[in-house]
Formats: sequence, structure tokens, C-alpha cells
Amino acid sequence: MDPAEPIDLRSDTVTAPTPAMRKAMADAEVADDVLDRDPTMRELEERVAGLLGATDALWTPTGSMANLIALMSRLGRGESFLAPLGAHVLDFELGTAAWLAGGMPRPLPHDGGPGKVTPHAVRRAAVDTADHGSYAALRPALLCLENTHNSAGGTVTAPEEHASVAAAARAARLSVHLDGARLWNAAVALGVPPGALTVGADTVAVCLSKGLGAPVGSVVAGSAEFTEQARRLRKMLGGGVRQGGVMAAAGLVALEDVDRLAEDHALATTLAAGLRERGWRVREPQTNIVLLDVADLRGTIAAFREAGVRAGAIAGKLRLMTHRDVSDRHIAAALERIGEVGPASTGSPGAPPAQFGRSRDVPEQAPRTALG
Ligand SMILES: *Cc1c(COP(=O)(O)O)cnc(C)c1O
Repeated sequence: MDPAEPIDLRSDTVTAPTPAMRKAMADAEVADDVLDRDPTMRELEERVAGLLGATDALWTPTGSMANLIALMSRLGRGESFLAPLGAHVLDFELGTAAWLAGGMPRPLPHDGGPGKVTPHAVRRAAVDTADHGSYAALRPALLCLENTHNSAGGTVTAPEEHASVAAAARAARLSVHLDGARLWNAAVALGVPPGALTVGADTVAVCLSKGLGAPVGSVVAGSAEFTEQARRLRKMLGGGVRQGGVMAAAGLVALEDVDRLAEDHALATTLAAGLRERGWRVREPQTNIVLLDVADLRGTIAAFREAGVRAGAIAGKLRLMTHRDVSDRHIAAALERIGEVGPASTGSPGAPPAQFGRSRDVPEQAPRTALG
């Protein structure tokens, strides 16, 4: 490892497209997807619909747009939507669920474990606001689930848990959207096909540009009626692209390698164990996200950066993520570099006061959490 080369563990979105992806992009068969349909985009959409157990699907440039389209198709003014606290649609999409889709957010506590809600909580929240009988009450219209749950630390919801929460929502006459930006990670961690995790969902969004490593692209899946409406909504949002097959081609290559995510998960486990040995307070990772509890978040991120490891922040925690462009060599080097920082010098809970935060490299503002 070149000691001058920073190891970037901020997100699994920092990867460069592989040579196979670049070749597929160069060779992609394309057409104008706004006028007609682009054949490579269509192939990707059909492939993903099949994997998710949906009738049809639509390519979108980002996961945020995929979520927004799903929410716009179901929500209107005077309606609310439920989502587990810290959900991407609540905290990391600039409130578009409210001001573009028109739904009032109703965050639910993680009463089913980190990142998870129970059927009971969904039933209660749906009835709470709906059954007061007042014409002035918000009407709960949708439940948005997230698997894996990013800000809870890449936590996984199992098929039976997902299905029972979705069933409770449907019984309360809510639509169900699944934000599955990292559904691939959940499927690999559980050893089940992704379609086993979408039961009862009306719409599902997945990203190709997270752990799968494509440079661009997400997909939103649902019924044929939904995708027809979704195509109009995508155009409305400025997401109608022309020869998008160039990007979809990379997505098709990315999908061939879903099983590789197991390597990211194993590296996250190695990283967490090494950090714990070195005295850091670490959440046990379920997938490729490692969260650290530190007293001085900004100072610790700056100290890591000075040591040559780039870290992010989410929900008040320091976040490290493994991805396609890091190997066991990088993780070993990262642990060595972080070992030199040491939890005591960065104000980890129970440690002496922080010594960091005054370096000229330290950003003036608290680290932002707009991490994918
Ligand atoms: C990254 C992410 C998204 C979508 O992000 P984009 O950057 O817009 O592609 C949606 N949901 C979750 C949980 C995510 O982690």
C-alpha cells in the first residue's frame, strides 16, 4: 500500500466502473428512450423486474428519483406516509416526499430492532391518524420501508419480518414502497433471492450504483400501470434521458456480480473486529456498513483523514463502508492507520477530552450526512 494513498471508506458509491462495465458502455446498443425506448435500458428494466418479482420496472438516474417517483404516484396533499426513523426518504432527500410528493412524513421508532418497525406499530400509526373521524385529520396513505436500513448501520430485514409488516400496512389500506437501495446486500447477507424481500410491496427502488458499482443508475419496479405513470413522472422531474443504454449497459454488468457483495460484508466484519480490538466502540455490521460511536465526530473524521482513511458521518455516528475498490490489503492498512489515531486521542466515549478539532484540515462545519 502506498502510504500516501488515502483509503476511501466514506461510501460504497466511490467506486470506479470496472473495465467490463466500460467496455459494455462503449458497445451498448442504444436508441432515444424519450421518443421510443432504448433497447439496453429496456433489457435492464426487464432483468431487474424479474429479479424483484415485479411485472415491470423503469430506469432512473438516481435512487432518490426512484423513491420520489414511487411516492409521487401514491401520495397527495392531505395524506401522510410512515417510514422508520432515519429513513433516506425522511432525512436525505431534501424533503421532496413532502413538497413534491405532497405527503406529510410520519417517522416510526425502530421498535422491531435497528432500522425495523413492527406490524403492531404500523397498524397503530395508520389507525391513530385515520380513525379519529375528523375531516381535518391527515390520511395515512403509504408505508416506506428501507432494506438494508442505511442510517441504522446497513441492517437487514428478513423475508418473514418484511412480509408481516407489509401485510399489516396493506390491511390498513396503505400502499407499500420499499427503498431497496441496498436490497442486494440484504439478499446476499440472508442468502435469499432479492424477490423474497419484496413480498407485499407495491413499488421497489434499487440502486445499481452502490455496492454493485455501476457509475449511474437505479430502477423503480412495480405494476405495468405503475411504470406507465412512473415514466411520465420521470419526465416531469427531468429524468427522461435519451441514449441511456450507455449507462444501463454498466448496470447490466453490475447485476452479474451481486454475489460479490459477500466479500464486502466479510471485510466489514474484519474491519469492525479490528477496530474493537483497538478500543473503538463499534456496532457489529450486518452488511457493508460499520458504525462507530465517537464523542467528537468531526475531530475523529479529521484525525482519520490525516492518518489516510476517509470516513463519513451518519445519524451522529462515524461511518465506514467497504466496497468493490477495497480489498483485505486496504482494510489491514486502514486498521493500522486508525490504530495510530487511537480512540483515546479522539474523544471516544470514556476517553480523555478530544485533542482534535483545531487542525487546519478540520472543516468549519460539522460533517454533513448527505452520504449515499
Ligand atoms: C443511496 C440511497 C438512496 C438513493 O441515493 P441516490 O444517491 O439518489 O442514488 C436511497 N435510499 C437509500 C437507503 C440510500 O442509501
